[in-house]
Amino acid sequence: MRNNDPISEKARAVQWRMSNEKVRLSEEFRVIPGWAYVLSIVAVVAMEIFLPIARKHDAHPMPLPVLVLLMVFAGFVVAAVPLLIGYVNCDAKRRGMNRTLWTILVILIPNAIGYIIYFLVREPLVFVCPQCGNSVSARFNFCPKCKHNLRPACPECKHETSPTDRFCPYCAHDLAADRPAGGTPITPASPAPAS
Ligand SMILES: [Zn+2]
Ligand SMILES: [Zn+2]
Repeated sequence: MRNNDPISEKARAVQWRMSNEKVRLSEEFRVIPGWAYVLSIVAVVAMEIFLPIARKHDAHPMPLPVLVLLMVFAGFVVAAVPLLIGYVNCDAKRRGMNRTLWTILVILIPNAIGYIIYFLVREPLVFVCPQCGNSVSARFNFCPKCKHNLRPACPECKHETSPTDRFCPYCAHDLAADRPAGGTPITPASPAPAS
């Protein structure tokens, strides 16, 4: 049976929005702020200078191939950490989350567990209302500016449907016939055409 309590309905709406987010890696890199790139480069350079010096002063220096491998792998890790912190800092902001709190959490929680939690619980991106262009939260059912229905539903049985559904998956109502030529989602309130 379908659970209709408001909280699970809301969770389903948010999940639907998240699954419809088209995340492109190249665009995600643009989220990372400039200071994170600078910090990343500085950290790598400092580490690559420090490692050979530390080896020289070591009583039992590691073999050269081991040093080279260490420099390469540690370089990747040292480069990634500031970039990840910068990403979380700006990604949290564009998702309307507390950026300071999340930045501190990912830094303080060890073994990258902070990042895992962040990527699991982060809010969906705000998106643009298809009717008026206002940016709306994924938690909204209707656009607060133009009242556009942001969660298409079957006019027959009122169950939530996907904009790509040809027929209602719950009652087989012909959704495509109700849809205007533009393909915009139908509204539950739309009156049946007079026959
Ligand atoms: Zn709107
Ligand atoms: Zn239906």
